Amino acid sequence: MPLPPVFHETAATRAAVRAFQSRGETVGFVPTMGALHEGHLSLVRMARSRNDRVFISIFVNPIQFCPGEDFQSYPRGLENDLAALSVLNVDGVFAPLDSTMYPDGKVLTYVIPERLDQNLCGLSRPGHFRGVCTVVAKLFHIVPADEAFLGRKDAQQAAIVRRMVQDLNYPIRVVVCPIVREADGLAMSSRNRYLGPEERAQAVGLFQSLRRAQELLAAGVRDSASIVTEMRRVLRSFPSIRIEYVSIVHPDTLEDLPHIGSKALVAVAARVGRTRLIDNLEADLETGRIDL
Ligand code: AMP
Repeated sequence: MPLPPVFHETAATRAAVRAFQSRGETVGFVPTMGALHEGHLSLVRMARSRNDRVFISIFVNPIQFCPGEDFQSYPRGLENDLAALSVLNVDGVFAPLDSTMYPDGKVLTYVIPERLDQNLCGLSRPGHFRGVCTVVAKLFHIVPADEAFLGRKDAQQAAIVRRMVQDLNYPIRVVVCPIVREADGLAMSSRNRYLGPEERAQAVGLFQSLRRAQELLAAGVRDSASIVTEMRRVLRSFPSIRIEYVSIVHPDTLEDLPHIGSKALVAVAARVGRTRLIDNLEADLETGRIDL
């Protein structure tokens, strides 16, 4: 299969997107940091199913990594990523250098979320969502697509980007897509490749804790503290897991929910060895849906 067209420069990327749109075609956009796996590819397929054209960006964004995080070691491999995309009929891959996104190495204008970054992952990753919002705000100018596709795997990120699009009047529809999992339930992640065999076996604990939450919700439990206690018990049965948080919040406002009335995001973050993993489920009790 032919490799997709690769763009490294911003003006050419924008021009290519605009050229499709000027012919009346819609463009779907999938922002990623590369090291593509089935989770990313599912977003590309969703974008493809709803749009005439699909662009993807591959950029390991330095400003969303906190000091001491894995920016240097984050997996990179454009050749492999392009090969994975070759069977998916992608119309453009925007793969800029750091110096293209941040020409003088400095950022003097950030997009900073309010409140929505004050819990969950925002607590242990100060500045992370500022980095995410800033790069996504830039990417949405460079790839002025009709729709953007994000994974619910990063539920806080999805909520923050949805709100940013609303607050800043971006003419783009954000589509949040289901979590793609390994056969044992572990949510796919580029960081899973850091896990050694023993850690990989234990990493399923996050999913198991969410399965327990699912059971409790289905059985009618509505008190968040009881669900969190049970989830922590499940997680503690995996000796390599160190819990960072187990939280139940509203999926849009991300505010803590002591009692689950209708919609809830049940989110967990933990370290397995040195690798930080996150996972979640979303429940809508009005429709009875519990999405793992
Ligand atoms: P990343 O490359 O990790 O920044 O992720 C790029 C996009 O892929 C984000 O919108 C993620 O939420 C999404 N994504 C990552 N892992 C998964 C997964 N297992 N299932 C669905 N979407 C995912």
